Amino acid sequence: MAYKISDDCISCGACADECPVDAISEGDGKYEIDPEKCIDCGTCAGVCPVGAPGADE
Ligand code: SF4
Ligand code: SF4
Repeated sequence: MAYKISDDCISCGACADECPVDAISEGDGKYEIDPEKCIDCGTCAGVCPVGAPGADE
């Protein structure tokens, strides 16, 4: 399980600065989470202004 960033992402970068394991990087048109690094802490979801990160089902 890892968090995923939806297409709602506006590439503000706030989540990447807050991720404790540096799992978030700027991707093509939106930010992306490396599922190998993500520890499901939920911090990115808490700081995102548009609610783009969510737990992958
Ligand atoms: Fe990083 Fe936590 Fe978001 Fe995973 S859930 S990408 S570890 S801030
Ligand atoms: Fe995208 Fe939200 Fe991260 Fe900003 S905080 S880069 S809008 S996922």
